[in-house]
Amino acid sequence: MKLTTKIFIGLILGAVVGLTLHFAAPDVFTTLDTYVFSPLGTVFLNLIKMLVVPIVFFSITLGTASLGDPKKLGRIGGKTIAFFLATTTIAISIAISLAYIFQPGNIDIDTQGAEYESQKAPTVVETFTNIIPTNPIQAMTEGNMLQIIAFSIFIGLALAILGKKTEGIYKLIDQGNEIMMYLVNLIMRFAPYGAFGLLASAIGTMGLEGAKAMFMYMIVVIGALFLHAIVTYASAVKFLGNMSPVAFFKGFFPAMTVAFSTSSSSSTLPISMKTAQENLNVPKPISSFVQPLGATINMDGTAIMQGVATIFIAQVYGTELGFGALVMVVLTAVLASIGTAGVPGVGLIMLAMVLNQVSLPVEGIALIIGIDRLLDMTRTALNITGDAACAVVVSESEKKHGVQEEARMQA
Ligand code: ASP
Repeated sequence: MKLTTKIFIGLILGAVVGLTLHFAAPDVFTTLDTYVFSPLGTVFLNLIKMLVVPIVFFSITLGTASLGDPKKLGRIGGKTIAFFLATTTIAISIAISLAYIFQPGNIDIDTQGAEYESQKAPTVVETFTNIIPTNPIQAMTEGNMLQIIAFSIFIGLALAILGKKTEGIYKLIDQGNEIMMYLVNLIMRFAPYGAFGLLASAIGTMGLEGAKAMFMYMIVVIGALFLHAIVTYASAVKFLGNMSPVAFFKGFFPAMTVAFSTSSSSSTLPISMKTAQENLNVPKPISSFVQPLGATINMDGTAIMQGVATIFIAQVYGTELGFGALVMVVLTAVLASIGTAGVPGVGLIMLAMVLNQVSLPVEGIALIIGIDRLLDMTRTALNITGDAACAVVVSESEKKHGVQEEARMQA
């Protein structure tokens, strides 16, 4: 049986077992969750998280070094950021439009008891200035992705420029990368069990409570996620990436299932990179550059949730948002999704920034927090698919510059 099929079965089985126990035998669920489901999920999560920092460091350094000149890096970087910004803006626009059409917030819901303590989100300026690490080792121990990316790009550039002089280190990093990719393969064999544990635990804990009242909200978010995938990404890979959308989604599906079960773009990174390189033929230097960056700053699924949630909360509280406010929502949601870390649930924290911007009550977040876990899984799957679509598009556009050839030589 193929690994993807196994993971998929793990997911379904986990959901069914979790839900059944939730209703039929909650006590049994609690015991099983403590001793079986959660540990299975945690072991899998830890296994993949273990590889994230070394993979990001090795692969970006290597990618930058093998791209060679800084001009090429700038060109690829420019295209990547342009793609990220364009698709995220489209994502929020889809989200807002659907929320206006389907009016998920036109429901009778009690907002009296809603309380939410917002955490302080970093300002945009802070996010940008913090990209340069003052201490790269600390950045690695803390897993600060943007800082690790910045440091790796510097090392990669130096390796490219110093060439022969630093051949030894280049080789070392290349071999380090090989080891990491081998370990990803190894760890993926455990994925079906991990996916089972994660799903059983999540679904069993949350059940379906709250899902009824929030049904429309959930449907609108999921509908927007789906639409963005089959319209925006499918057109991008077809027209800009010269790849059949079916081949794209089929090839990338294994990574999507892992993102779905972990709710974390950043933990899924080792698998999304491997899947894009092997199943979508994205050259290593491009995958190594685009995907880690995307897993950190490109979150279309999160932006979609934030867009729908903002309109939902405005509708629940009976606040009209004018055109200017809507433009503000689009702008801040783009920034908020950039600032969202690729870990579970952060998208909701960053939503406070969007709500504040248009003077909506932050307490509204309390209304959607109960069902956010399920949506988090779904939007994370979309988040990493956007990065892969970008990698496909950029590699197609770089073909004429010979990056493919270089990649093949390197592989
Ligand atoms: N869990 C999401 C991710 O890792 C972020 C979020 O929206 O909470 O991509």
